[in-house]
Amino acid sequence: MHELSIVLSIVDAAEEQARKHGAAAVERIDLEIGALAGIEPDALAFAWEAGLPGTILANAERHIHYIPGRARCMDCGCQFDVQQLYEACPQCGNYFTDLLQGRELKIKSLTLTTAEEVIS
Ligand SMILES: [Zn+2]
Repeated sequence: MHELSIVLSIVDAAEEQARKHGAAAVERIDLEIGALAGIEPDALAFAWEAGLPGTILANAERHIHYIPGRARCMDCGCQFDVQQLYEACPQCGNYFTDLLQGRELKIKSLTLTTAEEVIS
């Protein structure tokens, strides 16, 4: 499943950050996911449950920030919301558009539990 590999790469990135900061666990993770990133929210939630046990994110609170798709027409320059890739410009009908946002798939922030806090 596509989403599972995404979850596993998020786990890898979180573990790397935690190691860098000497943290034992992640309390909270905020993700940014673009509407056009090709992620099914339900499939992601399922993969999240499947991929996390035993990892540093096992008990992390998950917050997802969805970013709507937005594009700019390369002809007339107008900016508009898009629901899918390759939508025509609503002003002039041009298909040559530049996607400004909506393909994000990244960790926005991590709240780490430091080793000291875990021990106490
Ligand atoms: Zn246009």
